[in-house]
Amino acid sequence: MSFNKLGLSDPLLRAVANKGYRSPSPIQEKAIPVILQGRDVLASAQTGTGKTAGFTLPILQLLSKHPRQKRRPVRALVLTPTRELAAQILDNAESYSKYLDIHSTVIFGGVNQNPQVNALRRGVDFLIATPGRLLDLNNQRLLSLSQVEILVLDEADRMLDMGFIHDIKKVLRLVPEKRQNLLFSATFSSDIKKLANGFLHNPVMVEATPENTTVEKIIQKAYRVDQKKKTDMVIDMIAEGRWQQVLVFTRTKHGANRLAEKMNKADVSAAAIHGNKSQGARTKALAGFKKGDIRVLVATDIAARGLDIPLLPHVINFELPNIPEDYVHRIGRTGRAGASGEAISLVGVDEVEYLRDIEKLIEQPIPTEVMEGFEPTDKPTGVKPASKQGNHRRPKSRLGGASGGNKKHWRRRPKR
Ligand code: AMP
Repeated sequence: MSFNKLGLSDPLLRAVANKGYRSPSPIQEKAIPVILQGRDVLASAQTGTGKTAGFTLPILQLLSKHPRQKRRPVRALVLTPTRELAAQILDNAESYSKYLDIHSTVIFGGVNQNPQVNALRRGVDFLIATPGRLLDLNNQRLLSLSQVEILVLDEADRMLDMGFIHDIKKVLRLVPEKRQNLLFSATFSSDIKKLANGFLHNPVMVEATPENTTVEKIIQKAYRVDQKKKTDMVIDMIAEGRWQQVLVFTRTKHGANRLAEKMNKADVSAAAIHGNKSQGARTKALAGFKKGDIRVLVATDIAARGLDIPLLPHVINFELPNIPEDYVHRIGRTGRAGASGEAISLVGVDEVEYLRDIEKLIEQPIPTEVMEGFEPTDKPTGVKPASKQGNHRRPKSRLGGASGGNKKHWRRRPKR
């Protein structure tokens, strides 16, 4: 399948060619033609599937079809949970609209609003926003959404996880009733279904699993180790293996900070990335990691979801997630078609049950070893480490959500 067959215009095809994309990803193949027809879409897709181009390309085309109005009111709005994701979507929109007369901008909180207000004053066709700042600017009458023709809820499940439901409802009251709606989500809980039912009209359902990794291609290992010895063990592993780009998952924000600090003290350059970090710190950490200045990025699940982190040779679970599906998302960050990646889990005595749940989900055992010098001695306390990030409320069913998972139950259709 080539991009030429999707009905995209020449300027967009040229921009796509500039990006070096050879063929559309499955989600693009399915979503682009129906969005171009003006249909509402309910898409099951997560980061890594090419979903951003899947909605951005057809939106740009629809916007460029109509002659632009003099004042350039916002005609397409993408709501997204985090600033990073918003910034990534803007990057995409700008590169895809290189040969079009479309203005895009991004607005999010945590930074001075003036540059955003100035951009809005100059006129914006395509706006990407996090809900809080969007409503804030609207309340200040610095922005109108009364001419929005296309509304996208990106990572809708995560927006609900982050408590944005009321903000989303407020935004829905600010946009015209007649519009095209697109909803992207990795999971389909009853809350998402409720949102989708009220939001979408006769939607086309589209789903995709990321194609570049499969769990089978990833070498998975687990080490039984006492919680208090994990830090030394992980530093040893990274230092001795001379690993250069490692993503380490911790369960809590505090844990991420502590681990990054200890690694830096041990001369393994590391940065933590989580919801309590300032925008500047997060952007800097991610950029440093991508450039190779920082060897280890220590992240919480919620911080890592949605980030365009390149596929890596090593992913370490400093703690196991208590949602088995999160394990699949985490390890999906490693491995590439052809090349295998390695996912290592450090399992404390109270996490053994989580390991069993994960093995059940992926339908394969994870070889478990003990490392010399780090033999576990802890006795079970009977208290399972619980998540401090509220993700224990996340639903079990993920549709197409597992990175590369090709097992049937990961592609479960949402019950409607
Ligand atoms: P996304 O899932 O939208 O976050 O995209 C993940 C990554 O895939 C981004 O770095 C995109 O630039 C890239 N990408 C999107 N579409 C394609 C494509 N058709 N071919 C190759 N790479 C792509």
